[in-house]
This record gives sequence, structure tokens and C-alpha cells, in this order.
Amino acid sequence: MRLLALALLLPALALAQADVPEGFFPPPADAPKSAEGTCPLCDGAGKVDAKHQGLKTSDPRFRFRPECPRCGGRGRCVRERPVGERLAEQRTILNAYEREQRTAHRTPIGAGFMETDKAEALAPTDRAALAARFPKRCKACLGLGVDACGRCDGTGVTERRERTEDEDGEAVYETIKEPCEKCGGTGALPCRRCDGSGLAKICSRCDGMGTVEAKAKRDVPAHTALCRACKGDGRR
Ligand SMILES: [Zn+2]
Ligand SMILES: [Zn+2]
Ligand SMILES: [Zn+2]
Ligand SMILES: [Zn+2]
Repeated sequence: MRLLALALLLPALALAQADVPEGFFPPPADAPKSAEGTCPLCDGAGKVDAKHQGLKTSDPRFRFRPECPRCGGRGRCVRERPVGERLAEQRTILNAYEREQRTAHRTPIGAGFMETDKAEALAPTDRAALAARFPKRCKACLGLGVDACGRCDGTGVTERRERTEDEDGEAVYETIKEPCEKCGGTGALPCRRCDGSGLAKICSRCDGMGTVEAKAKRDVPAHTALCRACKGDGRR
């Protein structure tokens, strides 16, 4: 769906997607970043404690619960999806894609796959260029570039207990929910393995080129060959 939206916005990108070599199966689009769901600030109640708006009420009897500022009282909003939910969907998408490709005995090139006879017919530089266009994803974040925030466990919301007094002067404790400060309420931080790029590490053997220059040997002249370490992906 996201790919479709992008294609409508950017005809140039649509062209780039369309002119992949015959027999190449591009990787699927990433699991979307945001989706409509239960408001994380009010848990769907549509109302929050007055403290969320910085309002002070001296008498707790008159404390009111204003509309949730995040969802405007609807209880639902378009929210950044919890990173765990997004990673799980990404894993499902990629597993389904990979299973399909491997069942058809296609050859991985970058993040995509190609009919094996067509992949073998590609010149090393063309194969490496194709892999660079659809770069191999980071193993840890599956290409999303994000990791669950440790402070809020990926929920984007932190809770603290606050002590107040009721009308009889008895101590009461309230749980206050706030957007997590560490991740800005998104629940996500940049993936540590790829620094948020979502890409697999550059192959050190070929410096990310995917190809190496092979020296002349007996009856074989000098030539450009696929890097054996990354199989032409330039990343691993
Ligand atoms: Zn809300
Ligand atoms: Zn990563
Ligand atoms: Zn957080
Ligand atoms: Zn390499």
C-alpha cells in the first residue's frame, strides 16, 4: 500500500520500480510506520487527567478530566505503531516473501531474488549494481532501522506514581501516564546494529562494491569477479 502511494506521488520512482530486469522479484515494502489504533496516551478512554494539560486544581473534588489532547477525545488516533508490532509484521512479510522465493528456487540478490538462470547470466558488475539498488537489510531490525526503546519497553508511554491527598487528607496515589522522554513517545530508537540505516553491514572484503578484481592466472585473463564473501551484495 505504501509503495502504491509513493508510486502515485513520484512517477520517477514508479519507473525505477518498473524497469527491474526480467526475472527479478523486488523485495516487499516495509511494514507501515503508523496506523490507526488505540490512543496510547488515554488508552482509548478519550479523557486524561488534568495534569496532562498542566492544569492545577487545588480541590480534588473539582478535578475534571479534559479531552485527551492526543486523540481529541476519540480514544483512537493515527499513531506510530509500537516497534514490536511493526517488527513482528515485518518478519511475517519477509518470511512469506522469502518462503515463496526459496520454494521457486530463486537466487537472492541484495534484498530481492531472481530466477537462478537469469541471475547466473548477469555480469558481475550488473549483479552488484542490482544488489545496491535493493540493498540487503539489517538482520537485527529487518530493515526498519529501529529498536524498541528500553525505558518504555517500546510502548512510548511511561508511568509514574504521584501522591496526592483526598478531601479527608488521606494519601492517595495516582498513576500518571506520559509520553516517554527517551524516545519521544514513539517507543522506538535507532537500531544499534545499523545505526538506524536499516541496511546490512558493508562487506569489508570488497568495500561494499560487490565485485573484486581478479588477477590474470595461467590461461584466465584479469577480470572482474563477484566478491565471494558477500556474493555480490556488497553487504552481509
Ligand atoms: Zn487519547
Ligand atoms: Zn538495524
Ligand atoms: Zn521510550
Ligand atoms: Zn563483498
